[in-house]
Amino acid sequence: MKLYSTNNKALRVSFQEAVFNALPQDKGLYMPEVIPQLDPFFIQNIQQYSLQEIALTVASALIGDDIPKADLKKIVDDAINFDAPVKFLNAETAVLELFHGPSYAFKDFGARFMSRVMGYFSQKGDQLLDVLVATSGDTGGAVALGFLGVEGTRVTILYPKGKVSKVQEEQLTTNGQNIRALEVDGTFDDCQALVKEAFNDTELNSVLRLTSANSINISRLIPQTFYYFWAYAQLKAQGISEVVFTVPSGNFGNIGAGLLAYKMGLPVTHFVAGTNVNDTVPRFLRSGSYEPKPSVQTLANAMDVGNPSNWVRIQDMFDGDLEHLRGMISSYTYDDVATEQAMKELYEKYNYIACPHTAIAYLASEAYRRDTPGTYASVFLSTAHPCKFPDAIDEAVFAKVTLPKGAVDLSNKPKLATDLKVSYEDFKAYLLASR
Ligand SMILES: *Cc1c(COP(=O)(O)O)cnc(C)c1O
Repeated sequence: MKLYSTNNKALRVSFQEAVFNALPQDKGLYMPEVIPQLDPFFIQNIQQYSLQEIALTVASALIGDDIPKADLKKIVDDAINFDAPVKFLNAETAVLELFHGPSYAFKDFGARFMSRVMGYFSQKGDQLLDVLVATSGDTGGAVALGFLGVEGTRVTILYPKGKVSKVQEEQLTTNGQNIRALEVDGTFDDCQALVKEAFNDTELNSVLRLTSANSINISRLIPQTFYYFWAYAQLKAQGISEVVFTVPSGNFGNIGAGLLAYKMGLPVTHFVAGTNVNDTVPRFLRSGSYEPKPSVQTLANAMDVGNPSNWVRIQDMFDGDLEHLRGMISSYTYDDVATEQAMKELYEKYNYIACPHTAIAYLASEAYRRDTPGTYASVFLSTAHPCKFPDAIDEAVFAKVTLPKGAVDLSNKPKLATDLKVSYEDFKAYLLASR
């Protein structure tokens, strides 16, 4: 697999290079030189395969010789060791549940695969790989649990004190081993700024082997294609072959992976993006002019993104052709009042408890159905387990949430976190002290 930068199509880097240095110097994003086409016979018979078999076929088509198939199989089987079931709410609407991994969010797909790929490429005797990550909640948990125990790696997570939920904090702070949590007396933006400064610090980079676990990493994008194929396989097993996917979107990495799957030959009829009031992409699709804004805080806080970093990849897949984009992607925006209403409706109508992000996807899928009636199945993606968002969910409804067993176990473990002020000097000293 060779990759170019969306800002320089003449550039070529290896998969390994793109994994460890996720951002090209020119500030574009890495994209595969060619998007491989899957064998139509495989797609026609996809219902015969397991999630892991599908994942191996898709990953191997993309990555090619950079990881021999037998090694890739180990990585896939180890990373994707949980299901992503499609559950029907009624005859035409289903939810694809992506929260059955260890951190109860879809980010487990990306983080677990990335951690194992990084571990694979880190040879014995290589310097310890220091992964730095700032989190507003879900990313940190997926990265922590994804890298836990992966040899040759160490993860340092910065999270804003008092601004993540109980389950999220426990996932960050109860690991030990190669995972360290820094509880920052500041905001998520402060955490992000500290991490960014570390990556730009030449002195620090000369002594530590730093890498980011950012969502723009190509090794997080690849595994997110798997579940689109797997959802399609589950539908096909029920005789359904026409599907519209609705994706709750923030940084647009998840839907970007869906579009990549489509480009590889998955017969998807249409994609719908649901956003909260951070609506840069919906505005773009309407007006044709891309105008990022500072992010606004909402109930669906994992989607509070004013300038979606993965959008350039989507533009790239469609050669920047606005009409073509509009033909394949619709979008809808919802505020917190509508989100709360949707969570209530899902519970009352279907006895289904959803996190706020999932509720936005539900609303967008219903809106698209109204605007574009048809015989397709609407599948909206559930990106997190509701137990991660107690403050966003009505108290009486939240009381009915069944905590996964793992979440119960977590509350009995001691909290391991180091306090950090918003001071780059202190952060750097911390990193250097543990060399
Ligand atoms: C990260 C996240 C999203 C947004 O996904 P993107 O790939 O950034 O669009 C949606 N829902 C949940 C629960 C998340 O954690």
